[in-house]
Amino acid sequence: MRGRATNYVTDLIIRNIGQLITMDGAEGPRVGPSMRELGLVEGGAVASGNGRVLAVGTESEVLASVDTGPDTVVIDAGDRVVTPGLVDPHTHAVFAATREGEFAMRIEGRSYEEIAEAGGGIRSSVRSLRRATADLLRENGRGTVDLMLEHGTTTVEIKSGYGLSLESELKMLRVISELADTHVVDIVPTFLGAHEFPDEWRDDREGYVDHLIDDMIPAVAAEELARFCDVFCEEGVFTVEQSRRVLTAARAHGMEPKLHADELHSFGAAELAAELGAASADHLVRVSDEGMAALAASGVVAVLLPGTTLSLGGAAFAPARRLIDAGVPVALATDCNPGSSMTESMQIILALASMVLRMTPEEALVAATVNAAAALRAENVVGSLAPGRQCDLVIWEVDDYRAIPYHYGVNLAAAVVKRGSVVVSRGSLAA
Ligand SMILES: [Zn+2]
Repeated sequence: MRGRATNYVTDLIIRNIGQLITMDGAEGPRVGPSMRELGLVEGGAVASGNGRVLAVGTESEVLASVDTGPDTVVIDAGDRVVTPGLVDPHTHAVFAATREGEFAMRIEGRSYEEIAEAGGGIRSSVRSLRRATADLLRENGRGTVDLMLEHGTTTVEIKSGYGLSLESELKMLRVISELADTHVVDIVPTFLGAHEFPDEWRDDREGYVDHLIDDMIPAVAAEELARFCDVFCEEGVFTVEQSRRVLTAARAHGMEPKLHADELHSFGAAELAAELGAASADHLVRVSDEGMAALAASGVVAVLLPGTTLSLGGAAFAPARRLIDAGVPVALATDCNPGSSMTESMQIILALASMVLRMTPEEALVAATVNAAAALRAENVVGSLAPGRQCDLVIWEVDDYRAIPYHYGVNLAAAVVKRGSVVVSRGSLAA
């Protein structure tokens, strides 16, 4: 039982929890065998006050440690499973238009690279975003984040990167910032001006890198629009040296580095993430043994995106088992974007993690909560249920946590609590 010595009036109690997964006990992300430790309490309860966890443990311990008032809401979880709210640490959830036409082309056998050559891919999202009004982007983004919340995600990272000009990147980041200010979900903004080379700079790539460093990064920093800066470091996109320059400049302006790393080719991007002490290295389908060792040594979180590989029809998935065995902290994300992973649900990602990446249900849940929070440097705030942490949790429509990755393709989130308030309730919640 973890609680405070004195009694505090609580505004929410969740009781009669069959399996309460706290993820408590870890400092920072979990690695190796500790990725199977859930902090499981049977017959548990959680008490919240002012949006934060006041007490968590067995029901009798929690009820003894907090005072209830006339306004205290008591929810009976019906012997079901409760986990921390899911954290989605890699998305491109603000965009102007979906791309199902391109999806159909891909199904007929055109490759990602071929579609990009034909003017599709990221550049088609850039064209539609530049034309879109901020109102449209905000509307679309709000709908996407609403769906994420309904599926149990309570914290989400959203990247820019469909503007690729000073004006359009600022438009996109301001929309993300407005969503962050108004949506109940915690939204973490990332600047991804180095997502691709825009058409007008394709013949002067070094010129675009200079423009990113000299103009865009300082402008983003001046308005405090991004917590992280990300670069698509990949053959045909940004080189390791260009990525290093962009991320070093961003860090000097207060944005921490992240990388789209070794997705399509083994490119030395994981090694660069380790060198820079990045918050995360994401994708890693083609990570080298050296890259894996460098990530393990530096503690950089590997964010795996199996929905993207599935959606692109790839046969090779990120080597999750080898990453875990090498001691790399592994996290999961949707990569929600209109081109290569059109899902808002971390639940399908949990299923893919177990079925395809061969992560155990325990490892998948750790990767989608505490380790995903660490990929956003937020593991002391969200991703676990311990006194003082934000009271974000999901009541699942299952009585065994292993059913979460097992029973796939339906929404298993019965209720979602954000900062101590029930914000989604789909099932019957008895008082
Ligand atoms: Zn991405």
